Amino acid sequence: MAHPYRIWHPFTQMARFDAESKLVIERAEGNRLIDRDGREYIDGVASLWSNIHGHGHPRIVEAIKAQATKLQHSTLLGLSHPSAIEFADSLVRHLPEGLSRVYYSSDGASAVEVALKMAIQYWVNLGHPERKRIVALDMAYHGDTLGANSLGGDGPFRDPYQPLLFEPLRIPNGYRYRCQWSADGPECDSSCVNALRDLLEIRGSEVAAVIVEPRVQGAAGMIVAPVGNLSSIRQLCDDHGVLLIADEVATGFGRTGEMFACDLEGVVPDIMTLGKGITGGYLPLSATVTTDRVYDAFYDVSDRNKTLFHGHTFAGNPICCAAAMASLEIFEAESVLERVSQRTAFLGALLHEYFADHAWVGEIRQQGLMVGIELVRDRATRESFPPADAIGWRVCMAARDRGVFVRPLGDVVVVMPPLSIEEEELAQIAEAVQHGLREVGRGHDTVD
Ligand code: PMP
Repeated sequence: MAHPYRIWHPFTQMARFDAESKLVIERAEGNRLIDRDGREYIDGVASLWSNIHGHGHPRIVEAIKAQATKLQHSTLLGLSHPSAIEFADSLVRHLPEGLSRVYYSSDGASAVEVALKMAIQYWVNLGHPERKRIVALDMAYHGDTLGANSLGGDGPFRDPYQPLLFEPLRIPNGYRYRCQWSADGPECDSSCVNALRDLLEIRGSEVAAVIVEPRVQGAAGMIVAPVGNLSSIRQLCDDHGVLLIADEVATGFGRTGEMFACDLEGVVPDIMTLGKGITGGYLPLSATVTTDRVYDAFYDVSDRNKTLFHGHTFAGNPICCAAAMASLEIFEAESVLERVSQRTAFLGALLHEYFADHAWVGEIRQQGLMVGIELVRDRATRESFPPADAIGWRVCMAARDRGVFVRPLGDVVVVMPPLSIEEEELAQIAEAVQHGLREVGRGHDTVD
């Protein structure tokens, strides 16, 4: 009898996984993953949107080794260590001005949990426990722990767990392609921002915080919000004294073209969550960063109850912080943001050339090196494919034949490579997705 396979994979339908040949990645170099048979694949989704400078970057690898010989782990609960101190200092220098305090955790979702607790307890500590509602965007995704999952949009990621979750207040997102107000209009008429205005006018005094994925809603399908949307939300939060939480777990660290998506609009949130790319994508580390204003509401020697009672064992692990420090240094040493701007333009032109006229391509969305190609059955009506056809999935599987690993979100093909991606590699990704479309389209009645 065959030896049973022991791993239950995250976000994976194991029956489908078992039916396919298993891709087992043994090592990686630069922007390529290498499987145990020696086959190479371009890491087209940057190891779940986390890899920034490519795999095996010597500066990060050396920093990890050096730290591992000194201090592998020591808690931050009431103790400190140099690696966490140095990285916090350096991170603050890169953050939008005003974000000055760094609370460490290990995963993006944990950083979001902390942001929620910070926001709620901030108002409790200030004597306003009635401010207890959280406002979240339609189709939001902030992670899979229960608080973060509560914020998530309806659907299979959320529905089964509903009895365990709290209900946020909802506002429409900036999904231009399927916007209920202005999908067919030449310009966004800011109706979704007006919906937030109306909500806060009526219920603002109950609201603790608004949480957004700034500019790009990643897991929703790389939905790029109209320019100005984020700064309008900031303004409305200010008008109603509500905290703004910017979840930059996916958008942070150069992805969108600026160091943080908030920088695209000069917005300073009250709380920002960071993860994924914080260590260059090598080790688990996350952070919830905030202003002195929020921090000070917890700072009281005479009242223990004002403490933020939350903490994870490996929060701010020294080896993770050393990797994060090295990753930040690379941004300057290798002028990473300049390269992102050049690659963004190159990729934009390439996507246009390959996909703009394809019968299945409804919309190509891009912000920096975050791309979603939305596949539809009918471009004129924007009708989607039936989910059971798994078109996005099949296109991505076929792309593997051309040495490219990409993963879809439903029928949105995601391209989100390391920021170190080379032009030839981007061309290979475009070619592989085109091959995938051709293979899946063969024999399908809507494509010739
Ligand atoms: N927030 C956003 C915006 C994300 O995209 C993700 C992960 N895709 C998370 C939070 C959760 O991060 P993690 O998977 O590290 O828990």
